[in-house]
Amino acid sequence: MSELHKFIFDGLPVRGIVVRLTSAWTEILRRRAANTTAGAYAPAVQQMLGELLAAATLMQSNIKFEGALVMQIFGDGPVKLAVVEVQSDLSLRATATVVGAIDAGASLSDMVNRDNLGRCAITLDPGRRFPGQQPYQGVVPLCGDRGEKLERLSEVVQHYMLQSEQLDTTLVLAADDQVAAGLLIQRLPMQGAGNLAGGMRSMADEDQIGLNEHYNRIAMLAASLKRDELLGLDVDTLLRRLFWQERLTRFEALTGDAAPRFACSCSAQRVGAMLVGLGQEEAQSIIAERGEIEVACEFCGAQYRYDAIDAAQLFNPLAAGGTSSAQ
Ligand SMILES: [Zn+2]
Repeated sequence: MSELHKFIFDGLPVRGIVVRLTSAWTEILRRRAANTTAGAYAPAVQQMLGELLAAATLMQSNIKFEGALVMQIFGDGPVKLAVVEVQSDLSLRATATVVGAIDAGASLSDMVNRDNLGRCAITLDPGRRFPGQQPYQGVVPLCGDRGEKLERLSEVVQHYMLQSEQLDTTLVLAADDQVAAGLLIQRLPMQGAGNLAGGMRSMADEDQIGLNEHYNRIAMLAASLKRDELLGLDVDTLLRRLFWQERLTRFEALTGDAAPRFACSCSAQRVGAMLVGLGQEEAQSIIAERGEIEVACEFCGAQYRYDAIDAAQLFNPLAAGGTSSAQ
C-alpha cells in the first residue's frame, strides 16, 4: 500500500518526509496501459512521471493548503506535457502526452528540454475561491542559472523551492513500474521573537541559505540515498540506514485510508450524461459509422465504450440490454 511519513530532527531546524506510492501509482500505469490508443508509457516517461508525482505529493503534504497542487511540465521534445495533480487529502492522478518514440535511455532533456524551452509550472488552485482570487502559479525553466540543462527532476524542484520559499530543500526521487517514491529534507524557517517582524524573518532566512550546518549535514546524508534503496527499502530501514547518527521524531504515518491514493473524477455516469447531451441522433450516427462510441478520460486514460445496445439503454433507460463498461 502507498504510504507517507513525516519526521523532524530533534532540536534542529530540519524536517523530512518520505513517500512511497505503490497501489496509487500502479493504478495510473494500469489505466494508461489499458488504453488501446495511447498504450503503456515508455520506461523513461514512466520514471519521469512517477518522480513528478512523488515530488508533487511531497510538496502538497509539506504545505498547509486546501485545494489542488498541480505540477506540469511543458516539454519541447516528444513528451509535450506531463501533468500531476495532488489534492490536500492526497488523492492524486497523473498523465503525459507523448508524440513519437522514446529511446530506452532517454534523458530528461531528450524528452522535455531539447532546446532549453521546457518549463515546469507549479499551481496551487484553492478548491473554493474567494471572489477575484486567482490560483497561484510559479514557473521555473528546466535549466540552471547558467543555462545548463538539468537532468534530474529533483534539481528542478529544488530550484523552485529555493526561489519560492527561500528555504533550502533536498529531494531524492525515483520511480519504476511498481513504485514512485521520494524523500524531502527541508530547513525550517527561523523562529523566535526577533523574527516576528515580517521582512526581518525572510531576510534572516535568506541569510541562512546554504549556511546551516545541521541542514547541510543532513542534506548530504539524504543525497547519498541511491535510487534502488529508495525504491526497494521499507521506510523504517531507509531512515535508519540514512540517519542512524541523528535523533528523529516520527509522526503518525499516513497509511490505509489516509494514504495517498489514486482518484479520478471521470465515471461511466459522467460520460453517459455527456452522450445524452450530444443527442440520440448524433450518437447513433457515430455508432453506425464506427460500430461503437469510445470516450477516453484525458486525465487517466480510462476508456468508456458504448455499442448500439449500450446507447439504446442510455437514451431509453427502461429498454432491456447490455450495460456500458469502463476499462
Ligand atoms: Zn479519469
